[in-house]
Amino acid sequence: MSEPAIMPQPRPGIIRPDKDTFLAEQNPFEAMMERFDHAAQLLNLDRGLYKVLRNPEKQIIVSVPIVRDNGEVEVYTGYRVLYNTSRGPAKGGIRFDLNVTLEEVKALAAWMTWKCALVNIPFGGSKGGVVCDPAAMSMGELERVTRRYTASIIETLGPDSDVPAPDVNTNERVMAWIMDTYSMHKRHTVTAVVTGKPVEMGGSLGRREATGRGCMIVTREALARMGRSLKGARVAVQGFGNVGSVAAEFMAREGGLIVAVSDKSGGLTNPSGLDVADVQRWVQEHHRLAGYPKAEPITNQQLLICDCDVLVPAATENVITRKNAPQIKAKVICEGANGPTTAAADEILDKNSILVIPDILANAGGVTVSYFEWVQDRGGYFWDEETVNKRLESIMVRSFSDVMTWAERHKVSPRIASYMIAVDRVAGMHRLRGMYA
Ligand code: NAD
Repeated sequence: MSEPAIMPQPRPGIIRPDKDTFLAEQNPFEAMMERFDHAAQLLNLDRGLYKVLRNPEKQIIVSVPIVRDNGEVEVYTGYRVLYNTSRGPAKGGIRFDLNVTLEEVKALAAWMTWKCALVNIPFGGSKGGVVCDPAAMSMGELERVTRRYTASIIETLGPDSDVPAPDVNTNERVMAWIMDTYSMHKRHTVTAVVTGKPVEMGGSLGRREATGRGCMIVTREALARMGRSLKGARVAVQGFGNVGSVAAEFMAREGGLIVAVSDKSGGLTNPSGLDVADVQRWVQEHHRLAGYPKAEPITNQQLLICDCDVLVPAATENVITRKNAPQIKAKVICEGANGPTTAAADEILDKNSILVIPDILANAGGVTVSYFEWVQDRGGYFWDEETVNKRLESIMVRSFSDVMTWAERHKVSPRIASYMIAVDRVAGMHRLRGMYA
């Protein structure tokens, strides 16, 4: 991607006209960079730092060969990108998905950098992925892909250098294999090399629910600013995995009515509120939402524009675009997923006075408790769940308040305010450290 010849002038609230909107709606790295550029302009970031922060530190592409159960050799492509490590070890999940691309992994690694800086935890940002379809693989094949990928990127991994976590289609089982593979190479057990592990092997209580819990906390705070509460609020959730199903559960616990949920197989709606626990049980048994008998079917597109107060996109990138943004009825959008809204859609949502709680804030609960897990592993002393949840609550509430204060002070959206805070913190660290040459 080429760098702009000159830094464009600040245009608060307006996306840069010289960008190819179509490209930015397709390419998550471009979409992320739209927001970064905007924040950089408003911060008056100097040209040198602008160039440093616009480029990932390290991009690794590996071949991951395994022997499949039928005896044939298959070779998958794996990526790991370390975007910026100025504030601490890189931190970022690993996803296994057919749609993984280097551009996507770069965007996700950059988002991790801004996210960790925004909630002010001492990590940089990274991300990884393997282009594969776990649904078409046996448990043994998945384990072999995980271990071979881990071994291929082992030089970058480590509690002081790069710490993976679960993401789309990876879970605590996969984290346990990564921890074991790394530990076998190091010849001693290193629990702090990954987070999101099973609790029995050094995982943190509260980690599994942390991202969804964080979504609930910031949504509650956003509604409170409007003089409203989650009690009686109608909530639609796209994506019913780790983030979406837990966000739905916690919002329902606070009195929210979950009027629609969806996953890859389609969606469900019930205007009087779905029984989230019952839907979770169905998914546990059937591994998909489709076919759930106690609700009407709805498509993923219909879900995004359905009649609700709160919309939680918690599946994947670029689902809210300039095409469907004008029809969105929610008053608050809580971005459980990374990058669900394009920059062009942002402008429309802003005009329609919809409060978007941006991904780098809304889903930061996960990395925050990952940070707690890393601290606990390194200290060898484990906290009770109440302590974890109380500390998470305090970081999420403080970060939400910081973002709204910056947004008001600079008359920008919460998203641009979040980027401003994050970029300012990362740039500040670079200034303090100086340029090593
Ligand atoms: P997951 O694999 O547990 O669940 C993903 C869900 O989204 C599944 O229900 C899947 O069927 C659904 N989905 C996938 N593609 C879809 C599509 N095109 N349309 C509709 N539904 C679709 O993943 P997750 O961990 O819940 O992650 C979801 C999002 O949240 C990702 O963007 C991830 O990067 C982000 N995130 C996750 C965490 C975490 O702690 N797990 C933390 C921060 C951000």
